[in-house]
Amino acid sequence: MIRGILDGAATLLGYGASSETAPLDFSSTEIVVLPANAGPDEPVTPLRTVSKPTFRVGEAGSKGLGLFAARALGQGELIIDERPLLISVRGVPVAVPIWYSQEQTTKYQLKEFEKYLEVVLKEMRPADRDAFMSLANSHTTDGSGPIAGRIRTNSIGLDGLCPEMSGPMAQYSSVPHFISRMNNRPVFLSTNFHDASISYTIYAARDIAEGEELTLTYSDVWDTAANRQQTFKPYGFVCTCDACLDPINSDTRRAKIRSFIPTVQLWAVNRSLPDDWLINKCLEQMALLEQE
Ligand SMILES: [Zn+2]
Repeated sequence: MIRGILDGAATLLGYGASSETAPLDFSSTEIVVLPANAGPDEPVTPLRTVSKPTFRVGEAGSKGLGLFAARALGQGELIIDERPLLISVRGVPVAVPIWYSQEQTTKYQLKEFEKYLEVVLKEMRPADRDAFMSLANSHTTDGSGPIAGRIRTNSIGLDGLCPEMSGPMAQYSSVPHFISRMNNRPVFLSTNFHDASISYTIYAARDIAEGEELTLTYSDVWDTAANRQQTFKPYGFVCTCDACLDPINSDTRRAKIRSFIPTVQLWAVNRSLPDDWLINKCLEQMALLEQE
């Protein structure tokens, strides 16, 4: 059995207990369209509101579209609170002939996944469906259909959404509308998903000038520059930020920054170290962060 919830623009798909090899049964698919926002009397927390528009979508050169600050934003200010256009599981369980190669298996699974997603997409509000289909798709040659390709290009992982489920059936992907427009740059803003409002928030990590591009990091910030470029490959771009262009210094700084927390513990348990030892370590850390 398959069950699904469709969010305000959005779709959340999940599975009940079923055999891994059961054929897809669309008649048991349940799609729920949630309102764009929760009313004050509903058990779901309403979205947080921003006082004046905080961002606009604009041209970002070779990166296509991007998000830009519509006005000066202060550190800690809420920039976005939005419900995803779509929340879905990352694949559907299908029976694959055992003589299929790995490549054939993947393509077959993607084809079946696309059929499932087509059913879901029909239920979305037209404006939300248009917004979803207007997003970039960098998976056009690997067997992904146009819907799965957009999910694979734009989604944010949402594991742990259904604590009663485990394994692949508990792995969800969500596709926000405006957050999907944010291009990559290391350590600038990060997303938080709130179960209570079924939404993503973005807060300003520092003061942001009007017109500045709002960016997210697509990779683990602790990865080396070489590993980050591997992460960016499926998105079809090579990052040319200052950190990626100077991997020897940047990788060394990140390794030092990362090792800071054990340093705090070291000081706490060693009474022979003076008080300013930790203060000096903190100043070093701040300098490293500024440089990075
Ligand atoms: Zn970079």
